[in-house]
Amino acid sequence: MKKVLIPTALDAIAKDTLEAHGGYAVVQAPKCDLAQLAAANPDAHALIVRSEKVTPEIIDALPALKVVVRAGAGYNTIDIKYARKKGIDVMNTPGANSNAVAEEVIALILADARHLVAADASCRAGKWEKSSFMGTELTGKTLGIVGLGYIGQLVARRAAGFDVKVLGYDPFTSEEKARALGVELVGLPDLFARADYVTLHVPENDETRGMVNRSLLSQMKPGATLVNCARAGILVEDDLRAVRAEKGIRFLNDVYAKDAEGPKSVADIADLMLPHLGASTREANRKAAELAARELIDLDDKGITSAVVNRSVPAGLDPAFARLANVLARICRRTLGTAARLKLVEARYYGSLQPYADWLLTPVAAGLSAEYDTGLDHKGTLKFLADMGVDYVEREADGSKGYANSITLDLTGNLDAEHLVRASVRGTVEEGNLLVSRINDFDKLYMEPAGNWAVFAYDDRPGVLGRIAAALAAHGINIDDVRNPHDSRGHASLAILRVNRPLGDELVDRIRADIGADIAFHIEIQ
Ligand code: NAD
Repeated sequence: MKKVLIPTALDAIAKDTLEAHGGYAVVQAPKCDLAQLAAANPDAHALIVRSEKVTPEIIDALPALKVVVRAGAGYNTIDIKYARKKGIDVMNTPGANSNAVAEEVIALILADARHLVAADASCRAGKWEKSSFMGTELTGKTLGIVGLGYIGQLVARRAAGFDVKVLGYDPFTSEEKARALGVELVGLPDLFARADYVTLHVPENDETRGMVNRSLLSQMKPGATLVNCARAGILVEDDLRAVRAEKGIRFLNDVYAKDAEGPKSVADIADLMLPHLGASTREANRKAAELAARELIDLDDKGITSAVVNRSVPAGLDPAFARLANVLARICRRTLGTAARLKLVEARYYGSLQPYADWLLTPVAAGLSAEYDTGLDHKGTLKFLADMGVDYVEREADGSKGYANSITLDLTGNLDAEHLVRASVRGTVEEGNLLVSRINDFDKLYMEPAGNWAVFAYDDRPGVLGRIAAALAAHGINIDDVRNPHDSRGHASLAILRVNRPLGDELVDRIRADIGADIAFHIEIQ
């Protein structure tokens, strides 16, 4: 059992998802001090936090800790460098609360444009100050978005309904992607100079800290609006104070140097200020909680590290390919047969997957061996395989084949000192769906690896598929999908049956003996 600590009032779906998956003992203690909780549970494998600080002291108090998941986007409350030093992966849940923040930005802009807060207070006090609350309209104005990640992109899409002109600045976004969003990419000073509303959506890091300074702010149009729902440190508060005094800049704010009660330094310059409410919706809390649990399971079971923020992850790897690498490794290992001792793993990464090869080895290794610790880095993974007596070779992908993004795995094993066996599996991702395209010589399968698969390879002759189906029916097992290609050269057939529930080993063995199968296995793919 892996122990998971949740020292926060995170939606119960995180605990439920982990417990329903099995293998996890979850301790959720919303009102408990994290240091006390850590001291009482030194055997914890993972920690799921919201804004609780994960300091070196907390990390040291948890010697078995392998993963910290931040159920949210920003992770500056976690000492990620210290965690890395201790071999601990830190993950966030990108995208889970983006819509909540994007809606908050639109809500702030509209609330300020129509004086909603002040007008409500005035009307409630029995006054009738219509002339003091003359508003402005968002429609037809120019919105500048700094940072076109999950949140920035959603702000662009949500704002589109107001017929605004959208400018964007993000050195990591392509012209093509921006065009698809209806965003004109411009330089940062240009964005500040042209926009009626500037909204910040970059992370706070060494590069962005203090990025919005006097020189940028003084480019702004008189009376323009600055929205900060990102992080306080991105903005130089005193520079805004000075420029606001000159130009009447409006400032709508959600973020502070410290999330705590007490007076706020921006109170004199903020036209609207909220207590860091960006992600505070029921929907975002639930989405982040569920994603945190799923990411932890994916990392532990499949070595999917796409959400890890403190390894040198190359940006842009679609997590679907990490899942594909894992599932191909599992299918290939089963095709090789459990009687074979694995000796050699050859991997080929086609299309634009080559730069991610090192990264994809983690899910491959997790698929090959249940003993593999997904916390190992690339070097550690190679050593793990070498210690198992396995050579790992990354073969150059043959560009002339014209394959799109796809992966081929070839395994070689020993049955005994004299007999070698081989297995080969190839797959791709199409419209977000994983597809196994080849198993050994059986090509063009295009079958989705999902649910329960029963796989048999046998000498081609009439009636075999019927015998397999009859054996399954006798056990009340229904067939949902079948592929049954024949290899005319070798007179061999492959049957892949997606069935409605697992086959026990006994039934697999009985069918193997009945049809004289060379390959026979069942695999459950989640
Ligand atoms: P994200 O990682 O998806 O997007 C950040 C974007 O900023 C990326 O596209 C990146 O390319 C870009 N970027 C990085 N450095 C840049 C730079 N120097 N100049 C311009 N662009 C740069 O993150 P996200 O989910 O969109 O969240 C953005 C930030 O919002 C988070 O880092 C977090 O601090 C903040 N946030 C606040 C709340 C809240 O409650 N107010 C909630 C969630 C996130």
